[in-house]
Amino acid sequence: MSSESASSGSSAPAASNVAVIGLGIMGLPMAVNLVKAGHTVTGYNRSSAKVDKLVAEGGHGAASVAEAVKDADVIITMVPDSPDVEAVVLGKDGILANAKSGAYWVDASTIRPDVAVRLAGEAQEAGIHAVDAPVSGGEQGAVEGTLSIMVGGGKDDVEAVRPVLESVGSTIVHVGPAGSGQTVKAANQLIVAGTIQLVAEALVFLEAHSVDTDAAVKVLAGGLAGNRILDRKAANMAARSFEPGFRVDLHHKDLGIVTSAAREAGVAIPLGALTAQLMGALRASGHGSLDHSALLLLVEQLSGRSAN
Ligand code: NAP
Repeated sequence: MSSESASSGSSAPAASNVAVIGLGIMGLPMAVNLVKAGHTVTGYNRSSAKVDKLVAEGGHGAASVAEAVKDADVIITMVPDSPDVEAVVLGKDGILANAKSGAYWVDASTIRPDVAVRLAGEAQEAGIHAVDAPVSGGEQGAVEGTLSIMVGGGKDDVEAVRPVLESVGSTIVHVGPAGSGQTVKAANQLIVAGTIQLVAEALVFLEAHSVDTDAAVKVLAGGLAGNRILDRKAANMAARSFEPGFRVDLHHKDLGIVTSAAREAGVAIPLGALTAQLMGALRASGHGSLDHSALLLLVEQLSGRSAN
């Protein structure tokens, strides 16, 4: 779609009424940062206890999607998967049926690019400006307001919501038309999963050789092997602490998006496909709710080095 053609040329005010749908690991801290930036924030979540947490931080609570979005200038969705986004966007209780004409809908969830394109078209028909804006940076980035945000949509729409995005992120890049943000996010998830797998293999390898992993990680992080997974996750991996963070269930979903989008484009991603199989195996063995760095458990198991 060309969301520019749906634009009235107006933009969301610098201090906006913002609705946030989905107040989980990512959505809640993002909503709190929007409050801190001076926006009036109304949150809705499927389970209501998380709404209370936003209210305790100065936000407002809503009992339905319709109530949350009715006065919003900008609506952010941060729910797990494509069907979840469809559930909150479509239907008589959804965003498109209940938001003000001319409102901006920003989907920060990670979903299939083709679904993002289709929903952006439906939004335009409903008089709502759609922007896909998946994020990277994890829970820490959400709490610190330093997310990297890959944004797809019409230029005017992206510029209109930029002040809101700047309240939750520090790297905000318009990467192309509707759906492009999700395509870039799929590439992000390919790189992150593969890197975690290699860091997990390196840690198990180092331990098998009785090397001090703290010392090893320190020197590795300073050289060409340095990366954010080593910086942020290696210590917890070495300590076998896998509290999420980013759940295996969600990364399994994302690797399904990447493998299917790569297949559609006729692109071979052999390492990505193997990592997708490993993530799926980890999930099938009952570890879906652990942090994705729990790939290390599978490396241990394959190496005959499991604790149990
Ligand atoms: P999460 O902790 O599971 O949060 C999702 C939230 O959405 C939950 O609070 C859930 O409510 C709510 N929800 C689900 N369906 C809903 C509906 N129909 N209406 C209203 N609320 C609904 O997941 P997350 O880690 O925040 O991830 C959210 C999205 O961001 C995913 O697409 C993920 O891939 C992406 N992401 C996550 C990270 C990360 O590090 N965690 C990083 C970047 C991107 P309940 O309490 O009822 O379950």
